[in-house]
Amino acid sequence: MSNFDLPKKISILGATGSIGKNTLDVLAHHGGADNFDIIALTGMSNVELLSQQAKEFNAKFVVTADEAKYSELKDLLAGTDIEVGAGRKALIEAGKRDSDWVMAAIVGMAGLAPTIAAAERGADIALANKECLVSAGTLFKSIVEKGGGKLLPVDSEHSAIFQVLNRKHAPSLDKIILTASGGPYRSFTRSQMANVTPISAAAHPKWSMGTKISIDSASMFNKALEMIEAMHLFDTHPDKIDVVVHPQSIIHSLVSYCDGSVLAQLGEPDMRTAIGYALAYPNRIDLPVEKLDLVKLAQLDFEAPDEEKFPSLRLARQSMKAGGLSGAIFNASKEVALDAFIDGKIGFLKMADIVEDVLAKIPAKNGSDIDIQTIYNIDVTAREEAQLAVNKLA
Ligand code: NAD
Ligand code: MG
Repeated sequence: MSNFDLPKKISILGATGSIGKNTLDVLAHHGGADNFDIIALTGMSNVELLSQQAKEFNAKFVVTADEAKYSELKDLLAGTDIEVGAGRKALIEAGKRDSDWVMAAIVGMAGLAPTIAAAERGADIALANKECLVSAGTLFKSIVEKGGGKLLPVDSEHSAIFQVLNRKHAPSLDKIILTASGGPYRSFTRSQMANVTPISAAAHPKWSMGTKISIDSASMFNKALEMIEAMHLFDTHPDKIDVVVHPQSIIHSLVSYCDGSVLAQLGEPDMRTAIGYALAYPNRIDLPVEKLDLVKLAQLDFEAPDEEKFPSLRLARQSMKAGGLSGAIFNASKEVALDAFIDGKIGFLKMADIVEDVLAKIPAKNGSDIDIQTIYNIDVTAREEAQLAVNKLA
């Protein structure tokens, strides 16, 4: 248990996912329902788990994003005074409910609206969902700033940089170096990669994560999204963001300064470290994670990423330089391509082809008049364009 105050009123958007479960585990380690008021929990189809979580943590409001699951969830929670909601509006309502700290851990663009609802009212946002920044970077940051809450990175690389980047030294920054495990296909040739299946792509060698982010890691689209995320989070020029492949996933990212100093954050690959830091910031709390044993580790390896094999990284740079709505187009086309790969409609390597195609077709409008509706509109357009590209290939 900690000696200082942690946020009291907590909401978790995406409670049933990998990050959501790890967040509840961290809360359980620090007193669970005795110490925290769980204001809202959301999930999708796994209402069985959602109802168990709601009961164990005595949640006030529970939402399934899947309207067809409303009555099942309601039945599972019969006899409790837990309020139940379903669908998109209820998700946004979950973001609006009065909590101090919100874990944004819904996967994909679906996470944007409820996270904005929480940011607008000034909650501190623990941000696991990278799509908020990738699709709506500048606007999302201004919403958080206006609301007055903190933006606390949870993605392990961004948490690492957040821990080692001294904002006072920002003018002396040389590079932000994101580490990447390289995924399961690091040593594959492109022709081997052409035939991989969604099941093998989802088996990450180092991190235990949701299916979509695991497949994004295999294609390095996850790192591509993280480059865009880092550019927004740390107000960095695209040329100052590098990626290095580090298969052991022990160094979670590094910051290099103009004087030759390089600062890094290390630890076992366990998301509870980043979640705990976002919860306790600016303090640190005890967590049930394995401690790093450098002697046992003995060796850390590094190599340059192969951008021929992983065009996602090149496309991310292109998108960062284009700026404006390009991130939204990048993310939307990637989500459609990823779903098409998961559904067996296209091959693994075609995902990048589709994103490249859509980025080339839709102009990335820039300017100060980009509001949320503009972002949703371009998201729809990019999805339609990506779907056409999928249909041509399928
Ligand atoms: P996951 O697939 O395990 O869980 C996703 C959660 O979102 C679940 O609660 C699911 O029910 C919910 N959800 C899915 N589709 C939804 C929809 N359309 N509407 C509303 N809710 C929906 O994913 P995860 O691995 O926990 O990742 C969550 C987010 O955190 C992602 O954006 C991912 O990129 C990011 N992230 C995850 C990790 C990790 O280690 N898992 C690390 C860094 C960042
Ligand atoms: Mg990450």
